[in-house]
Amino acid sequence: MKRSFLFLLISFSISLWSSDFLTLSGSPSQGGILLGKVSSQIEIVLFDYEKVNVKDQRFLLGFERDAKLHHIITIVHKDGRMFSRRFQLRKREYPKQELTITKKEFVSKPKTKEFYERLKKESNELKAARKRLYQNQKQYFQEFLRPVNGGRISSEFGAYRIINDVPKKPHLGLDIALPIGTPVFAMADGKVELTGDYYYNGRFVLLDHGVGLSSIYIHLNKISVYDDDFVKMGDKIGEVGSTGRSTGQHLHWGVYLFETALDPQLILDFKENFVKIAAVEKIQQKQTKDKT
Ligand SMILES: [Zn+2]
Repeated sequence: MKRSFLFLLISFSISLWSSDFLTLSGSPSQGGILLGKVSSQIEIVLFDYEKVNVKDQRFLLGFERDAKLHHIITIVHKDGRMFSRRFQLRKREYPKQELTITKKEFVSKPKTKEFYERLKKESNELKAARKRLYQNQKQYFQEFLRPVNGGRISSEFGAYRIINDVPKKPHLGLDIALPIGTPVFAMADGKVELTGDYYYNGRFVLLDHGVGLSSIYIHLNKISVYDDDFVKMGDKIGEVGSTGRSTGQHLHWGVYLFETALDPQLILDFKENFVKIAAVEKIQQKQTKDKT
């Protein structure tokens, strides 16, 4: 007679909620951006005790160049329970960069009334365009793409800059050196909010990706889109150039969440899942022993 014992380990879990209450993914870093997702049972999200604008259960958090390192995120469940997590950002070290600009019109600026009026007009136009981003509650973007193929990083986000021996504001975009005429693509779906040919920017395109996220492409040789056009991620929007206050052929790529400049290199990195507030799970384990 043959005897065998069959051991069955039956484990099953009953999830009271189908998904995690909150996940934050992206780059927890100064200059970084985090994408938050909450389950439908979460009613309120607070970041550093301030209410966050949640759209379709998603939200963005952006951290400026010198953002403080310690933060707290709080979620409030429909049933009134509150969960909080503290997290810390990575501190960045920024390089120092000395540049020489030889273009005549930038070495000695024309100090005429017309010149200052031009600067003022351009600055006001750009500010007004950025203000319009606040009104757009739509979210166009799904994912992000590097706007040019290849190229050498000639100036990093956050670099301290000394131009013609004069200390300037830190660099708040990413410079990628490439030959004139190299195609520039939209980093995500969006609307062309503003194009122009400005004294500092040269020819540029500002894209609105919705919910406060925007990208800007400056010093272009050619602009291939018009104001109010809708573009898809990867559509050609212009060509690399050296227009405006530029030290050579390159693309200056800027990414902003409202008025906060972010490091474009970090926006491409959304895989890391580093803060999670999980739904409560009840796990039961049962061991049965059958004799045959
Ligand atoms: Zn730049």
